[in-house]
Amino acid sequence: MTSAVDVIVIGGGIIGSAITYYLSQERVKVSLVERGDVASGTSSACDGNILAIDKMPGYDSQLTLKSQKLLDELVESVDYDLEYAQRGSVLVVEDEKQEPVARDWFTRQKEAGLPMRYLAGREVFEDEPLLARDVIGLVECASDASLNPMALVYGLVEASRSTGAMIRPFTEVTRILQDSTGAVCGVETTRGVMNANQVVLAAGVWTPALAVAVGVTVPIKPRKGHILVAEQSPRPARRKVQEFGYLLTKFGGAEGRRVEAEMDRHGIAMVFEPTEHGNFLIGSSREFVGFDRRCNHHVLELMARRALRFFPTIRDIHIIRSYAGLRPHTPDHLPIVSPVPAVPGLYIAAGHEGDGIGLAPITGKLVSEMIVGEPTSIATEPLKLDRFDK
Ligand SMILES: Cc1cc2nc3c(=O)[nH]c(=O)nc-3n(C[C@H](O)[C@H](O)[C@H](O)COP(=O)(O)OP(=O)(O)OC[C@H]3O[C@@H](n4cnc5c(N)ncnc54)[C@H](O)[C@@H]3O)c2cc1C
Repeated sequence: MTSAVDVIVIGGGIIGSAITYYLSQERVKVSLVERGDVASGTSSACDGNILAIDKMPGYDSQLTLKSQKLLDELVESVDYDLEYAQRGSVLVVEDEKQEPVARDWFTRQKEAGLPMRYLAGREVFEDEPLLARDVIGLVECASDASLNPMALVYGLVEASRSTGAMIRPFTEVTRILQDSTGAVCGVETTRGVMNANQVVLAAGVWTPALAVAVGVTVPIKPRKGHILVAEQSPRPARRKVQEFGYLLTKFGGAEGRRVEAEMDRHGIAMVFEPTEHGNFLIGSSREFVGFDRRCNHHVLELMARRALRFFPTIRDIHIIRSYAGLRPHTPDHLPIVSPVPAVPGLYIAAGHEGDGIGLAPITGKLVSEMIVGEPTSIATEPLKLDRFDK
């Protein structure tokens, strides 16, 4: 097989499918190449939260707000049931030690324009009556939402196909091809060569392996996370609930939490997400343990114990499934959405760590704007690959 398009997108996860969608909306001839089925990587081993509340105040949260707005449009334009629900989300403040840090977080996010509220005392239990009685506060962000991440991938892929994009599952890219000037001229795959002058590498945690072969170092490491899925049951909370300590496991400073050393070691923080089908998901863990995607039962048990600390009423609810995925982690927690100056025609869109579902719309839009040559929806300096050289 030898075929030519304008742009080849490598990786059929949420990021690759969003890029394919926005490019095909611009009538660019695009092909999405995925080595397995679409949504077979991290985008099917995660939660589906679209959160601004857990982003660093500043560029990080502004990027998410833009993405949330784009998602509102996608919910209308993509003809697929995304199981989308916008109920807001809350961070649980566990004790007096966390309170000043949480109040500071709330103030900075509110000043940055996020729709935030701080709830204390009785308000906490009016909002979520089944929370453990000793929690002392909630930080709420009203614009936060959730959806089924696989449905979003399928919806974007189907919409792209209907506007002419070629979708090539079960096709592994074995090499990015360059011409005699070093510019990109296509990819070699397990099903033959495909030609294009622009290639977007959106292969999540597997991005560095393909980039290094063209002399490009991409500082992405897999950061493993586990999820427990509970049976259909009365919901212990009506919307997304995370412990405030989740931010500490994500950004650092977890030693300030009141948890067992063993939980700290595996980066465990309670994350609760109700689904539209009446089940709920419990997360999560955060560890650098290579590319192993198997569940560690010890970690799952610790996660269940942590969830019980905040929701004692779920003790008798059955867990029906568990899975683990690999977050594409970068050293500064921001994704890489960038051309690669050393290899003309090559773009990287990866490294979204625990935020790729929420940031997929803005990532797809930005890459499409870069390729089409339009002004970008937000400044992209903080997302450039070369920031790591500085
Ligand atoms: C436990 C957990 C919970 C999470 N919860 C959330 C959340 O609530 N909200 C949120 O926003 N984010 C969340 N995330 C993060 C989110 O899942 C990721 O950021 C996102 O899925 C990354 O998408 P991606 O498209 O970059 O990678 P992937 O989904 O991994 O897609 C990359 C694709 O590239 C393909 N590929 C690799 N190599 C090749 C090759 N050589 N040729 C062809 N194809 C190739 C892979 O098969 C894969 O399908 C969570 C992650 C985890 C692990």
